[in-house]
Amino acid sequence: MTTAESTSPESTPEASPRDFIRTIIAEERAAGRHPDGVVTRFPPEPNGYLHIGHAKSICLNFGIASENTPGRCHLRFDDTNPTKEDVEYEAAIEEDIRWLGFDWGTHLHYASEYFDRLYEDACELIRRGKAYVDSLSAEEIRDYRGTLKEPGRNSPHRDRTVEENLDLFARMRAGEFPDGAHVLRAKIDMASPNMNMRDPALYRIRRVPHHRTGDAWPIYPMYDYAHCLSDAYEGITHSLCTLEFEDHRPLYDWILDELQTPTHPRQIEFARLNVSYTVTSKRKLLALVEEGHVSGWDDPRMNTIRGLRRRGFTPASVRRFCERIGVAKRDGVVDWALLEHTLREELNVTAPRMMGVLRPLKVVIENYPEDQSEELEAINNPEDPAAGTRMVPFGRELYIEQGDFMEDPPRKFFRLGPGREVRLRYAYFITCERVIKNDAGAVVELRCTYDPATRGGSAPDGRKVKGTLHWVAADAALPAEVRLYDRLFTEENPGGGGRDFRDAINPDSLEVISDARVEPALGDARAGVAYQFERLGYFCLDAVDASPEHLVFNRTVTLRDSWAKHAKGGAK
Ligand code: ATP
Ligand code: MG
Repeated sequence: MTTAESTSPESTPEASPRDFIRTIIAEERAAGRHPDGVVTRFPPEPNGYLHIGHAKSICLNFGIASENTPGRCHLRFDDTNPTKEDVEYEAAIEEDIRWLGFDWGTHLHYASEYFDRLYEDACELIRRGKAYVDSLSAEEIRDYRGTLKEPGRNSPHRDRTVEENLDLFARMRAGEFPDGAHVLRAKIDMASPNMNMRDPALYRIRRVPHHRTGDAWPIYPMYDYAHCLSDAYEGITHSLCTLEFEDHRPLYDWILDELQTPTHPRQIEFARLNVSYTVTSKRKLLALVEEGHVSGWDDPRMNTIRGLRRRGFTPASVRRFCERIGVAKRDGVVDWALLEHTLREELNVTAPRMMGVLRPLKVVIENYPEDQSEELEAINNPEDPAAGTRMVPFGRELYIEQGDFMEDPPRKFFRLGPGREVRLRYAYFITCERVIKNDAGAVVELRCTYDPATRGGSAPDGRKVKGTLHWVAADAALPAEVRLYDRLFTEENPGGGGRDFRDAINPDSLEVISDARVEPALGDARAGVAYQFERLGYFCLDAVDASPEHLVFNRTVTLRDSWAKHAKGGAK
């Protein structure tokens, strides 16, 4: 689709818009508004890495822009707070958005690039009698502000003349005053029931360098002031933000109205994404990193975009998840299991199957000739015939999973036990003849026999076996480290009920298996590619710690939701 007409609401025989924001926009467009397209923005503060909550906002903003040709979505760094921000975060945020599959084209912006313009507009507000310099201390300002029940009081400096205000503001800008000596405030209404409208601060003095503008500015605009104007300067049509900004909307509109900006973006609020068993707060994620509960922002247990990527999540699965959870006006909690479910659906279709043994138990096939080995054909992906087959080496000595053998198995255990016959996937039927134990009585090796007539995994005489096991050939298999992850928190709402979220950290969220064995084809595994280890789950090569000499695989998800019973009855 290349022309604007082909995607206009009238000509697209699409179902009705899938959320209330898209409905609003469709109605506006049907009424002939936004002839130049819909312009949205994603405005991260570069003070941390993006997490799954941000992904919702990214998918929404970039999604809506791409659905409303010729729409566009800007990436704007909201870098108005010089003390916590960094270019390191900026580069990472750009990389993460690209990885998710979105592109801002030439529209990369910084609130700091508008510092001159914002300053000029602040002077204009002063000239219009809509802003004043206040010299009360922070404490006094708080005191004068009143409470939800009581109106605030006017500052004694509220009636300074325009000249006096312009002079003081210019001197604030020139760096004549220490931090906290003055603030520039909007002159609105100290009795407003909305606390945000009680003469909010627009500028404060902060004599600290900024990572982009250096020492140029000793004063910095407040978020509420910079944000609406940045939106207007960029011609944003819809400023989509989370619910906590609902009470700030009157201020957003007030500033734009008082300055009579050429365009007036519409702010629409939606519910934040909260995901069970995780925290979606940059402050808490930072604490996890700094206090060493995880190995870094990209620890595969983190719900950061880079953590998810390293864990093996795909961009498509994250986008699909965001589509599924929808966009609502009321806060809710989405179950982490839905994200995993969405990924499984995709990987079930796309991931090549491989064999790996996490906890190896040696099997010697006594009637298999000592000097013989062979290659057996294995299906790469039963869901995708085009994926073809591969050859897997087989020999006299193999490894199977320790858990697939029991010396004294209960009736329902269909795997291997003394005297029992099972199928080795794509290979032969084997029967366990003898068990070899060490001095401590632990099983260290199984002596088995195989039936050469069952090559490929079926018996010509039609006899059946109940169990099919995965395996690797002892000689040919590659040693590997495997990292099994579980949820980082044991509670749905870590830190709920006023407790410390750290108390809910799952002490067993990482299990490292250092002596697994995987089939040789996995020696060519590439980071970012998912494999299904048969019967075990989906895995990927770790992008950070793996090398050709030392394979490291992350378990991305199990094959089934082991938490399903917990998830039931929880939020959808
Ligand atoms: P945090 O509270 O973790 O510090 P933030 O909202 O301050 O997050 P920003 O960098 O300001 O982080 O966020 C950029 C954009 O992403 C904002 O528009 C914000 O509303 C949105 N966003 C942040 N967290 C979520 C979330 N959990 N769900 C949906 N959108 C979110
Ligand atoms: Mg924010």
